[in-house]
Amino acid sequence: MLPQVNGHRLGSDAQGEDPLPGDLQDFLGAESLLHQLDDLTQVNPVTLETVLRCLQARYTADTFYTNAGCTLVALNPFKPVPQLYSPELMREYHTVPQPQKLKPHVFTVGEQSYRNVKSLMEPVNQSIVVSGESGAGKTWTSRCLMKFYAVVASSPTSWESHRVAERIEQRILNSNPVMEAFGNACTLRNNNSSRFGKFIQLQLNRAHQMTGAAVQTYLLEKTRVACQAPRERNFHIFYQICKGASAQERLQWHLPEGAAFSWLPNPDRTLEEDCFEVTREAMLHLGIDTPTQSNIFKLLAGLLHLGNTQFANSEDEAQPCQLMEQAKGSVRTSALLLRLPEDTLLETLRIRTIQAGRQRQLFRKPCSRRECDTRRDCLAKLVYARLFDWLVAVINSSTCAAPDTWTTFIGLLDVYGFESFPDNSLEQLCINYANEKLQQHFVAHYLRAQQEEYAAEGLEWSFVNYQDNQSCLDLIEGSPISICSLLNEECRLNRPCSAAQLQTRIESALASQPCLGPNKLSREPSFIVVHYAGPVCYLTTGLVEKNKDPVPPELTTLLQQSQDPLLKELFPTNPNAESQEEPSGQNRMPMLTVVSKFKASLEQLLCVLHSTTPHYIRCIKPNSQARAQTFVRAEVLSQLEACGLVETVHISAAGFPIRVSHRNFVERYKLLRRLRPRTSSGPHRPCPAQGHSGERPTCQFSVEPGFPPPTSSSLKAPGRAGHSAL
Ligand code: ADP
Ligand code: MG
Repeated sequence: MLPQVNGHRLGSDAQGEDPLPGDLQDFLGAESLLHQLDDLTQVNPVTLETVLRCLQARYTADTFYTNAGCTLVALNPFKPVPQLYSPELMREYHTVPQPQKLKPHVFTVGEQSYRNVKSLMEPVNQSIVVSGESGAGKTWTSRCLMKFYAVVASSPTSWESHRVAERIEQRILNSNPVMEAFGNACTLRNNNSSRFGKFIQLQLNRAHQMTGAAVQTYLLEKTRVACQAPRERNFHIFYQICKGASAQERLQWHLPEGAAFSWLPNPDRTLEEDCFEVTREAMLHLGIDTPTQSNIFKLLAGLLHLGNTQFANSEDEAQPCQLMEQAKGSVRTSALLLRLPEDTLLETLRIRTIQAGRQRQLFRKPCSRRECDTRRDCLAKLVYARLFDWLVAVINSSTCAAPDTWTTFIGLLDVYGFESFPDNSLEQLCINYANEKLQQHFVAHYLRAQQEEYAAEGLEWSFVNYQDNQSCLDLIEGSPISICSLLNEECRLNRPCSAAQLQTRIESALASQPCLGPNKLSREPSFIVVHYAGPVCYLTTGLVEKNKDPVPPELTTLLQQSQDPLLKELFPTNPNAESQEEPSGQNRMPMLTVVSKFKASLEQLLCVLHSTTPHYIRCIKPNSQARAQTFVRAEVLSQLEACGLVETVHISAAGFPIRVSHRNFVERYKLLRRLRPRTSSGPHRPCPAQGHSGERPTCQFSVEPGFPPPTSSSLKAPGRAGHSAL
């Protein structure tokens, strides 16, 4: 069957048949109308091919947003479209009686969430989950939503008389450039790629004005400080200080013009993200004064010099490695900037202290050159990760509202999208695990819940198949045995475990799991997980070590000796603060591995999401070259498949767009009932579920404010015929 628009057949079908010459006129007419379909549920039939064509037609017509039932699809324009994000347009979406009647937009989602929070009937916290692959526009979209709320959720009086309110919105917006300078980097996929996940709670008071914001971050890619993939860069802030420092600061921070740093690859490439002034200005607004900023940048310069500290192989294993000749100055400068004793820094990098024997005697063992490099990198990662967490805490203290001043929130979730590279490791496992969890949340919320509800209420309904990813989650996090539990066990037992042994252990212990794919092609020790978005091959080399994320205790002790006020704050001598980094022994608390910490924070996040009404925005990248006006069908197709958009459209198209609990419905429309004469076909068909729950959404129907209550016929699923095929 060929897709139709207003009864016209639409070109070739999915098998690739060309349109017949006689149909050409029809075809052109129908195709030219495709871009007018604001909702993919109106495409008929709903297939990957028709959905793809509709999106392509809209993209060509510079229409970047399309509804897909309960989800908003956002195509990245890869060009400035200022008219689409003007404050005037924000106000229009905010003030019209029915924003959903306007063109699909991220503002519709923003406004709908805001109205839900304001609803007197059911004020409930909202969350907007923005997903998509790297470079698809997630961060852009969440920034855009923050700007929207800064405009619409600040009352007119707050702009004029309450200067505090004015400042809070500005401060919330200012958190973006700061977090992006420290947490974003240029990657092969996105010049401004977020290397951490974040959930921002925009806090609203009783008058529904934004009184604050709290941000929670996830899994900063700290390895980037010391290791960057070819053609990628370190975090933006390093380039900003090197390019934007004044002459005096260059002297202070030992950053002479044109200095080369091995942790600063591709320094000649200038990006718009390299604007130091914007970062500084935003930091000032957040209450980070100039001396504190200077302190931060000095530490970062210290890390860059640390990166130039290269060791030579030692000929005698009993002797510590020597410094390369040109690195002697680097270690001195680094120690100076970090305010550490130079000899202790050098010794800590080159000599390992081991506690052994009954008396827990201390032994000192010179490290190999590779071990020295690892310790140096670990030191930099440790400082940077603590600094990032400290910044987030400072931002929160500047933007968070006092607990008694806010009552509801709108959460914006911007996490890294699904990743699959030729080589995947623990980072990808965690990222893809998070995406599985979010997909399950989506499936549970929209797909499964909707179908179960229809079934419970005895509504006419033909079930739509969707992919339930529970089995994949069982493989990753299930109990008693899963990939996570096996990795944690290896860390706990601390026994030798080669990459090949780990592969065998995973494959034998989880052989019965359907989502553990056949691993036939890879020559390296690895295992395959069949994710909802496709199979991914994870290398087992270094996986256990990464999961341990060991920090030699000597490194923490070293940093505690710093005379720098900020480092002192980041590494207090309080033993409780230390215990986090130390590998725990048999009798201590359960070991905190990367996976176990990540799992705990994900569970917390999901818990918050479950307590809200979720909204979904799927960002799509029309091409991987970040080019405007370029729609690469194969690339978009794989993204549509990965997020199961067609299934979403099917369920949304066949389902009921508005769901109101019976009690609220009666409350809202009882007036009309009194006005209308009662007829035999009257509006009050008893709802099957009415008897057992007053609160559950019991009746589904399409209601527009001001319309009479539904008749029994309007309680039927509108199905395909209920939606215009245009
Ligand atoms: P993600 O967070 O998904 O990795 P970003 O939000 O950083 O991706 O978007 C990548 C780039 O795409 C941005 O830097 C910006 O140049 C461009 N972009 C994304 N969305 C839009 C938009 N709505 N309008 C204009 N440009 C956009
Ligand atoms: Mg991002």
